[in-house]
This record gives sequence, C-alpha cells and structure tokens, in this order.
Amino acid sequence: MLGSLRSLMAHGAPKLSELVELVAAEMAVDVCSIYIKRPGDILELAATKGLNPSAVGRTRLRVGEGIIGLCAASGQVMNLADAQYHPRFVYRPETGEEPFASILAVPVRRAGRTMGVLAVQTREARHYLADEVEDLETVAMLLAEPLAAAGAADGSEEGIAGTVPRVFSGVPLVGGIVIGVIVQHGARAVTGRLLADDPKAELDRLQAAAERLQRGLDELLDGRLPDVGEAGAASREVLEAYRLVAADAGWLNRVGEVIRSGLTAEAAVQRVASDVHDRMRRIADPYLRERLADLDDMAGRLLAELTGGSARPTVPPGAILLARRLGPAELLGWHDSGIGGLVIEEASPAGHAAILARALGLPALGGARGALAAAAPTDQAVLDADEGAFYLRPEADVAVAYGRALQARQARRAGWERLRRKQPATADGTRVRLMLNAGLALELGELDRTGAEGIGLFRTEIAMLARGSVPDIAEQTAFYSRVLDAAGERPVAFRTLDLGGDKLLPDAAQPAEANPAMGWRSLRVGLDRPAVLRKQARALLLGAAGRPLSVMFPMVATVAEFRAARALLLAEAKRIQPAPERLEIGTMLEVPALMWQLNALLAEVDFVSIGSNDLLQFLFAADRGSPVLAGRYDLLSAPVFDLIEQLLCAAAVAKGGAGVPVSLCGEAAGRPLEAMALVGLGVTTLSMSASNIMPVKSVLSGLDLAAFRAVLAGVRRDAGAASLRGPIEIWAREQGLDV
Ligand code: PEP
Ligand code: MG
Repeated sequence: MLGSLRSLMAHGAPKLSELVELVAAEMAVDVCSIYIKRPGDILELAATKGLNPSAVGRTRLRVGEGIIGLCAASGQVMNLADAQYHPRFVYRPETGEEPFASILAVPVRRAGRTMGVLAVQTREARHYLADEVEDLETVAMLLAEPLAAAGAADGSEEGIAGTVPRVFSGVPLVGGIVIGVIVQHGARAVTGRLLADDPKAELDRLQAAAERLQRGLDELLDGRLPDVGEAGAASREVLEAYRLVAADAGWLNRVGEVIRSGLTAEAAVQRVASDVHDRMRRIADPYLRERLADLDDMAGRLLAELTGGSARPTVPPGAILLARRLGPAELLGWHDSGIGGLVIEEASPAGHAAILARALGLPALGGARGALAAAAPTDQAVLDADEGAFYLRPEADVAVAYGRALQARQARRAGWERLRRKQPATADGTRVRLMLNAGLALELGELDRTGAEGIGLFRTEIAMLARGSVPDIAEQTAFYSRVLDAAGERPVAFRTLDLGGDKLLPDAAQPAEANPAMGWRSLRVGLDRPAVLRKQARALLLGAAGRPLSVMFPMVATVAEFRAARALLLAEAKRIQPAPERLEIGTMLEVPALMWQLNALLAEVDFVSIGSNDLLQFLFAADRGSPVLAGRYDLLSAPVFDLIEQLLCAAAVAKGGAGVPVSLCGEAAGRPLEAMALVGLGVTTLSMSASNIMPVKSVLSGLDLAAFRAVLAGVRRDAGAASLRGPIEIWAREQGLDV
C-alpha cells in the first residue's frame, strides 16, 4: 500500500477522494472514509469510498458521538467486528452505512492534536489484524498534512487550528495569573517527505543521526556544561536520562523496522513515538511512564538531528507552557527559555514539578485534561492558577478582565514592598519565623529578596537531580559552603539526600517496587549503603568550616534509624577540623510511626521539622502525586490538628522542660490559609518556597490570633468532618484576609 501511496503522492498532496479510493482498494475493504474536525468539535465527513457520496459535507458528528466521535475523543483506535453492538454506536441514515458491520477507526493526529478520523468498514463482521491496524495508522499519519491543507483550502484553516474559546479546570499548583501565547511541550509535527523509496539510505540517515545524538550527549556530559545549580546543570539531568534512552537499541531497531516498510527516517521516528505514547496512556506505573516520557523527549531530539532543527522552539517571553508530564529538569530548561507559567495535565500539588515551579515562582495548574490536545501553536490563553482555570483562546472580555486583575495584583505586590522589611508577626503581636525552602544555587538570592530568616529546608538532592549524578566530596563541599556564605548569619537546615520514590538519578540502582514512595528510598538507602551518606556528611562538615551546622534526616521511621544516622554524622565530625561551632542534628517528621516514639525521639533530637507532604501521604494512605486524590484529604482537619498539637505538647516539655523546636516545611506552610491555621495551633516557624513568603507574611500581619484561636476551637468540635477548611476560610474572608 505504501508503494501505491508513494506514486499517488509523487505529484504533491493527493485529493482526499483519491486517498480513500486507494486505501479501500489496497486493504480490500468496502468502505474508507475521512472525517475532518471542524470548529466546535464537530467531525465532518470529508471524503468516502463506499458510503453514500451525497453524505460528504452533510454528515456531522460531535467529538465523542458515535464510534468515529469516540475515536476522536479518546485518541484511540476502535477495532470492532460489529459496530452496531457497541453502546456508543449511532446510525446516520444519509450515509447508507446500514449494510456494514465491521469498523476500524484511527485518529489522525498532528503535533499531538486530533485533526480527524480515518475509518474503514466491511460488510462482513470481522476483527482487523494487527498488520491492518498498523497500515491504517501509517496512512493516518501521512494524512495529517493533506488534511491540514484541505482544511486550509476550503477556507477553514481554523477548522484545523480551532478558534472556539475553551475553558479547562484543574488543580492549582502554584497561584498566579498569566496572559500569553501558549507553547507545547513535546508537540512535534513531521512535515515534508514522509515516504521514501530507498530504505537503505533512510537507515543510514537514522544511524548517522543516532550517532550524532549520542556523541552530542557524551560531549555535553563530559564536563562542558556549567556547574551544579545553574541553567546548564538542568539540561544535564535531561541529557543524562536521554543518554540511557539513546543507548537503548530496542527502540531504534523498531524505528528501523518501520523505515523498511517504506517511511522516511523522521516519519518512522514519529510513528514509533506515537505508538509509545499510546501505550503510555494506558500504563499506570509511574516509573514506566517516566521512562516512556524519556523516550518521547529522545524522539524530539532525534527528529531535530534528522531535520537539522532545534529540539526546543523559541519561546515568546511569558508564554504559557502546556505539557502532559514534565520532569523537574525539563521544567528548569523551559524556565531558562523564559516561560511565564505552565499547565501540566498529569501533575499534583505535592509532586516535584509543582515544588520546583513554586520555587521558581511560576504560576502552574495541574490537570486541565485535554488542554494540550485542544491547543494550537499560536493560541492565546489566560492561566488563572488561583482559581484553577485555563482559558484557551479566551473571549475578548475574559482577556480584558484578566488584564485588569493582573494590574490590581501588581498594585498589591507594591503593598508588599512596605511589609518586606518588617518582621513577620500576627496583628496582635505574636512573632512568627518565615524561612525559605531551597535546593538550587539560583534560589539563594531569594534569601535577600524575600527577607526570609534563613533556610528551613535545604533539599540537597535537588542540585544532584539537576546535575544527574552525585558530585564528589570537593564539589559538594564547595556547594554547601556557598549556601552558607549566601545565608551569612541566617540559619540553614541541610536535609541529607532524599532520593528514591519519584526522585531518581539516571543511574540509580532502584529495585522494582510496587510502592516506591514507601520503598527503599531516602535515609533507608543512606543507612543500608552508607558510603554516599558518609561522603555527604563529610562535605557538609567541611563546607561549614567551623561555622554552625544544622543537619536533618528525611523519612525517619524509628528512633533507631535516627540514632544510626546521627552516629554516622558524629563519627565524621570527629575526624574533621575545624569542628563546627555548633552542630545541631534534627529529624523530619514524615512517617506517622514517630508519633508513638515521641518521648524517646524528643530526648535525642535537637529539632523537628514536619514534612507535611509525606506525612499526609502516609497518614491518609493517599499518594501525594496522584491528581485523582488531590484535595481529598486536608491538612485542615481534626486528625492533623490533633497530631500537631500532641507533637507540640510533647516537644514543649521535652529535655527536662527545655523544649525542642518544631517547625513545618511541607508545601502547606506556604499556603496562607494553612499557614494561619498552623500558627493558630502554635507552629510559629514555617519554611516555604520563595514565592509564598510575602503572601503568607501579609495574611499573618492582618491576623488577630487570639480571635482566630477561639474560632479554631469552635470548628474543631466537628471532629468527624473530612475537612475544616470551609468555616476557617469563611472566617478569614470575613476578616478581610487575602487567603
Ligand atoms: C515533605 O515531605 O513534606 C518534604 C518537605 O519533603 P519532600 O517534599 O522533599 O519530600
Ligand atoms: Mg518528604
């Protein structure tokens, strides 16, 4: 069939009517039809061989309606032996399709968007074989350009690009409003030559491109990038991951097979990548999905090598990035290109992409399913990450209203300027300490910019993830020393490596686990394979060079683990001169089991920092990365309030009454309403991302704490409620607090 198609396409784009004739003949089916997607999510019959010709241009289905509509909506192949038994079957008499039983429908996609559907039918009830499905998918791919051209030719270019305003709702990850043009992560369209008559030449091109890709990665990874923490380091992680994928011969072999069937190298890469994509949509396992995402990125790079283009489009300043998934390092890369905000279809508030976006101050929305597929490259959009809405091609008055809201917000920020130099405190004078969460060198400047009183959580693994490997002692020492230099007199709590779960280095020897978040991660790895933790301890002590040093351990589940980790750190401390002026060793409270070891724990730790992201995930048995569960369990609820209160009570009387300081460094600390509640409960040291410090400071400065405590006591009587957010929020708004 590809041979016939090649002849047909030799003189430019074929007519759709010729294409359907050819496919019907080559596949020996009774019907072949093409449906084009029109504005308003309508699929219109554009050409047919076998159905009633007068139905062309008349038969219209909504996306989601009938088998054709379902194929377009789901983006999946529909292979049905007898369509009329399918629950979504609809019958359109004008098409004369009554005699036809079987249907095979495949979506026509271009740059990740569904542009139409290609379908074949037979009288006989039959299932289509894998080879037939593959053939029709290949034709669908070849159809993408002619369909775009057909849409343009009949004056409805918008039929392809879409003009209707669309609104998507999602989960706010990082608040803020952005108005701008969209850019798509991972959207690629292969244009130009798709069919080749010399497979050998195409295989050679593939081979050469794969070698260039590999060489380019090797060169970059062999130390030519700038150091840890800066922009170059971000690309390093991406590259390190790519390198593993690039070396995966299985994938390239598959591309080779497709080339042998008659496609050009770039068309074959695209074809295999979209197979990978389809499989990915059906896989729940997060680890496998990450690997498939790497493959997707690699396909982009390989296409760039083949076409001589650049893998990442240039970004208009302040553009809104749309992505299905996004790794922390990729996000850094886009940030460097100048995006102003982002929508990630598969992300949740406590995932690492969200945490990083927060650190960078990038408004971000999770969820908003379908936004990527509905968008076209030059679309304008408004991202309202406060209210959880994404307006694609907004109505003019929506855009104007948001323009006004943005101006008002800027005015409010000017008000924050006045607050910046004031110490954080509630309106009635309770002093609060607001600290910074950080992990990259580029965030250190935020200490001065935000007026934070120190770094309450320094995530040491982040720079390593950005770089893609664990640096040697000398490099780590220099980095930690730089962090302490930037902090000056301000305290810094370094958290030891918290790798594993969803934070994996490319070369991590991670066992296959059904529950990586509860698996062999973090301190557990540190204690079982102490060499890395020991190196880090040494680097922290050397970096301190006699200055005060504060270290805490993540994912501590038993006092015995804390003791073992502390012993390791103290053993290193004995060997290093000059000793830190003061060495404080604390624990994160992330595993609920510690709550039943409080007496023993508090007798030994110098401080406790509540890691509410993980603590809530384990307390409620609810995956922090699952968008489906986001918002279902709430920190603002009786069990969490009780837990915090018990901890504070025990900490206050620990060490013979001297007490143990308790702070909170999970994402909740940076949300004004949660911050208010935490201060109300008595947690007065909160550590958060830079972009949250001023909003939290501003709300706390207007809070009448005594009155709020009375309110809090009242709402807590409803101990069985899933969340106490409603009444707390209502009260805060009545007080005029900007929560
Ligand atoms: C936490 O779990 O709350 C925390 C601060 O650690 P991380 O988000 O890095 O897991
Ligand atoms: Mg944690």
